[in-house]
Amino acid sequence: MTESAPAAAKGPSQMRVDRLPSTKMLNKIIPNYLLKSKLMAMLPWKKTAWVTAGFPVELCYMFDIFPMHPENAACVSGTQKVSQELIEYAESLGFSRDLCSYFKTNIGAVGKKVGLTKGGIGKPTFCASTNTICDTHVKWFQVQARKFGVPYFCFDIPSAVSGTDDPRMDEYIDYVVAQYKDFVDFVGNLTGKKFSEQKFFSVLEKSDRLCELWHEIYEYRKILPTPVAFQDTMAAIFPMVILPGLDIGIKFYEALLKDIKDRVARGVGALTKEQEKYRVLFEGIPMWYKIKYFHELANYGAIITYEPYTYSFGPRKQLGLSYEEALRELARMMIDVPYSYSLEKRIVYFEKIVDEYKLDGIILHSNFSCRPSCTGMIDLKNAIQADKGIPVWLMDCDMDDPRAYADGPMKNRMEAFIELMAENKKK
Ligand code: SF4
Repeated sequence: MTESAPAAAKGPSQMRVDRLPSTKMLNKIIPNYLLKSKLMAMLPWKKTAWVTAGFPVELCYMFDIFPMHPENAACVSGTQKVSQELIEYAESLGFSRDLCSYFKTNIGAVGKKVGLTKGGIGKPTFCASTNTICDTHVKWFQVQARKFGVPYFCFDIPSAVSGTDDPRMDEYIDYVVAQYKDFVDFVGNLTGKKFSEQKFFSVLEKSDRLCELWHEIYEYRKILPTPVAFQDTMAAIFPMVILPGLDIGIKFYEALLKDIKDRVARGVGALTKEQEKYRVLFEGIPMWYKIKYFHELANYGAIITYEPYTYSFGPRKQLGLSYEEALRELARMMIDVPYSYSLEKRIVYFEKIVDEYKLDGIILHSNFSCRPSCTGMIDLKNAIQADKGIPVWLMDCDMDDPRAYADGPMKNRMEAFIELMAENKKK
């Protein structure tokens, strides 16, 4: 920090972000899931599937198939500080430095047979993914399905780019619905499991309830001081990614909401009213090996109050539809994911959030691994700065590869960002 830096930018030592008490429930939910995942992969009569973000994991629960999530396992490797050695192992096999670090972490985790608590994952009955967010999900599962000798199902999802009109969207939906039906046949033939419409609607209803609660949590984050920080949502997203359609996540989110309402009634935030100086949006996947970064931000009074990434996992489902109509809605959801929004739509989305959440700044994680989510970030930054007059930090880093993170330069940039927000607030 320069000597003339404004007083507001100085980082008071060690501010504590208060976690919601019920996030402790995850200490049971996650180990239970991991234990189950170990058992399911060992029992020959149980059926399991590897799935990715963007894949409707509800389809697994509809068929009573246990979903395993290699991306989530890669996050575990990051938080347990073993991702780098797994990535380097994958690179030693010839996978390029430029490839996604989740993918390489998984190659390393399987190759080195690491345990579940370090991001290991068992062999599935089959792999299923989509290209709705990235092509990595396709090539990754092709590579690993081949290695395990298990079948792979890919949903091919068209991108609804600018100018996609209604008739074209209808064609896209027809195309995806046909693939849903293929998937039902694929699972039936492979596992002998029968599809039940009753189960389909019951899982859909529970999944929507989970999303409804998730959205309600984000509504409360608009309040000053925010009762919920990213430190809570980055962990609490677990049931949204892996357990939608089950009761366990619903109970957990109801408990979170109870804590939140209690905080709001008492006027208490994740930081205190006096401590919360800068409300910030963080876009992208966090650096799992460096969660401390978010605590360091908080030491300057900067708290993450909204993340498009975590919010995007909980789209509401339309209920009360016929089976065919419900399939069309699910297809539309797979096509219309925030990560395939056009630049124009993304700018409108972000600027609305700036107003609603009374934001003072934005951090866009320009993630070396996840190029699809970073496309257009420079234009997004320029548009928001021009339209909303708040600083936007385009932060070059990587979510699972610690080689992309250097403490000194990162701290310098963080302080510069804080100074910009402090100066801006004086205007
Ligand atoms: S490229 Fe991005 S979306 Fe795809 S697997 Fe990697 S991190 Fe996930």
